[in-house]
Amino acid sequence: SMASPALLMRVVASAYSVAEKAATIVRNVMSAGDLGIVEKAGPNDLQTKADRLVQMSICASLARKFPKVTIIGEEELPTDDVTEDLIEDGHCEEILKKPCPAQYTGIKEEELVIWVDPLDGTKEYTEGLLDHVTVLIGIAYGGKAIAGVINQPYYNYEAGANAVLGRTIWGVLGMGAFGFQLTEVPAGKHIIVTTRSHSNALVNECITALNPDTVVRVGGAGNKIIQLIEGKASAYVFASPGCKKWDTCAPEAILHAVGGKITDIRGNPFQYNKEVKHMNSAGVLATLRNYDYYASRIPNTVKESLVP
Ligand code: AMP
Ligand code: MG
Ligand code: MG
Repeated sequence: SMASPALLMRVVASAYSVAEKAATIVRNVMSAGDLGIVEKAGPNDLQTKADRLVQMSICASLARKFPKVTIIGEEELPTDDVTEDLIEDGHCEEILKKPCPAQYTGIKEEELVIWVDPLDGTKEYTEGLLDHVTVLIGIAYGGKAIAGVINQPYYNYEAGANAVLGRTIWGVLGMGAFGFQLTEVPAGKHIIVTTRSHSNALVNECITALNPDTVVRVGGAGNKIIQLIEGKASAYVFASPGCKKWDTCAPEAILHAVGGKITDIRGNPFQYNKEVKHMNSAGVLATLRNYDYYASRIPNTVKESLVP
C-alpha cells in the first residue's frame, strides 16, 4: 500500500485550499462594501475586516488540522472562538500526490512554523488597487522558508466579466513552484520594483544609485515577488524597515524554489524560527536572476543606515 503523504506535503496541500477560502473572504468583504478600516501604527498601517476574518480563517483551519505547528499571523486579534463558516478543511489533491523532497520527509509538526499574512497590500486594497493584494502562507523549518502559498484574489480582474478571478501559486524548495509561467525580464533590462505607499528618502536614494531603466511602484511584498517571477521586474529593492517575516516567508520559499534569491539590503538571509524578531529592519533585496549585479551596487551608506 502507499505510504501516507509526508507532513510537509499535507500542510502545503491544506494551505492551498485554506488560501483559496481566504481569497473568497477577501472578495466578499470588498463586494459587501464595509471594509471596517482600523489604523494600527498610523494611516499607512491599516487593518480591514478582511485582514481580521482571513487571519481567523487561516489560523483556525490550519491549527485544527496541525495542532502542534506554530502559526504566527500578522494581526493581533481577540482569541474568541472562530465561527464554523470560517473553517476550511479541504486540501489540494494534486499537491498531495507529489513526492516530498527527501530532505523534508521526516519533518514533525513541532518543527514547523507557519507565517501568515492574511492580506498583503492592505493599503492598496482600501484604494481599489485590487490586483496588488495577496494572501501569504509561508512554511519554515530549521529557520528557513521551505514552502509557500501565494493567493492573488483579484488576478485577472481587468480581463472582463467572463474571466476566472484569482489564482494560487505554491512552491516547495527542491520541487519548484507552480501556478504561474516562470518568465525572465529581457536581457540587459534593469527594472526595479519597490513600495508605492511606504517610500522615504533612503528608499529612493538606493533606487537612484542602482540607475534602473524603469521603476515600478506597486503595493505588497507578495505582489512584488510575482513581478519578479513573471518577468515584470528584475529586482525588488526596499531600503527601509517596515516589511515583516509574514511578508517575506511565502514569497521567499517560492522565489528560492525557482532559483531566485532574497536577503536584506546588506545581503543577510532572513531567519524564520518562531523566536525571531518580526521586523525585517534592514529592508529587502530580491531577484530572480543576477542577484550579485544589484547587491554589488547598493551603496555602503545605504547599508550602514539599516541595522538588522
Ligand atoms: P509595500 O511594498 O509598501 O506594500 O510593503 C510590503 C509589506 O511591508 C506590506 O505588508 C506593508 O504593510 C509592509 N510595510 C512596509 N513598510 C511599512 C511601514 N513603513 N509601515 C507598516 N508596514 C510596512
Ligand atoms: Mg504584508
Ligand atoms: Mg497584511
